[in-house]
Amino acid sequence: MELLRIGVVGCGAIGREHIDRITNKLSGGKVVAVSDVFVEGAHKVGDPIGATVYNNSADLVNDPDVDAVICTTPGFAHKETVMQAIEIGKPIFCEKPLTTSAEDSREIVEAEIESGRHLVQVGFMRRYDKSYRQVKEMLDSGEFGKPLYLKCTHWNPEVGTNYDTPMAVHDTAIHEIDVLHWLVGDEYVSAQVMMPRQTKHTHRELKDPQLMFLNCRSGLIAMVEVFVNCRFGYDINCQIVCEEGVIDLPTPASPTFRKAGGLTTAIEQDWKRRFIDAYDVEIQEWINDVRNGEFNGPTAWDGLVANVTADALVASQESGAVVPIEIGEMPAFYKK
Ligand code: NAP
Repeated sequence: MELLRIGVVGCGAIGREHIDRITNKLSGGKVVAVSDVFVEGAHKVGDPIGATVYNNSADLVNDPDVDAVICTTPGFAHKETVMQAIEIGKPIFCEKPLTTSAEDSREIVEAEIESGRHLVQVGFMRRYDKSYRQVKEMLDSGEFGKPLYLKCTHWNPEVGTNYDTPMAVHDTAIHEIDVLHWLVGDEYVSAQVMMPRQTKHTHRELKDPQLMFLNCRSGLIAMVEVFVNCRFGYDINCQIVCEEGVIDLPTPASPTFRKAGGLTTAIEQDWKRRFIDAYDVEIQEWINDVRNGEFNGPTAWDGLVANVTADALVASQESGAVVPIEIGEMPAFYKK
């Protein structure tokens, strides 16, 4: 195939970043069309690269010059574009979350199975991070025996006042929900959230920190600490305790300073920088796969698993109860 001709729906923050990386860093793809409900914004990014500009996703998806679509609108608008792409049979990379409700994700899964082709990839970019890939390689090698429990932290310096309690799941823990399920290849069966003593740096609408427990079919338990006003930095950790040893997610290299009687290492402050390479690898592999007629990324089923699991965690945030997770059996279509 010649260059993959890509249409991008949604020219906000991450849409512009993906357009920039496809245009200036990656190979094999070209952005030929962009759309946004805020059409001036679409012109601002589309005009300099000679892309056709639309004010709606249907026209972009149906443009015969567009081979594949990237959807970077806010979550509530994803379903419409994804369904349009499935309808016409074009591959689509959809930023997380696949949709904002489990029912909508199930509809996408059903439509994709009906189409008979793997078309929908969800933007769970941690799977493309070098350090998570190293951890998965070690786990898959079998050298560490069975994983028994996982301890993860998602620490973030601060959030705005529009960030509320459910967002700790839907916007933040959603990455852990997907990457842990991918790392250990287990199924979630129930979820629980416990609220420890609260920080003075939070506000009325946000419980912070939160301790989230995900129980898996094998008996494995994952504990995810989400603390989004921790003040000190953006710090993602994951430790997997196995039968034969412990695997820690490597932290990105950072200089250590000896000064004034102290030994210090800086902590990343900006979430965008922590996973910047993962976004490049993610989009490059998607372009390569589409050009080669392959599919290897996170599926619409993974998007549904994340939605159902997130709903169970949110249901537990108020009550603290253990909430069952009922996803149903993975359809044969999604089994590798
Ligand atoms: P954003 O800055 O608000 O950008 C979204 C853009 O889409 C805005 O320009 C918005 O226009 C436009 N839009 C809204 N409805 C639309 C529609 N129906 N058709 C076309 N355009 C529409 O949001 P963002 O931060 O880029 O996030 C976009 C998505 O990426 C979200 O799902 C988010 O969760 C995801 N994301 C993922 C990661 C990751 O780590 N993988 C990181 C960041 C974001 P208006 O502003 O005029 O409404």
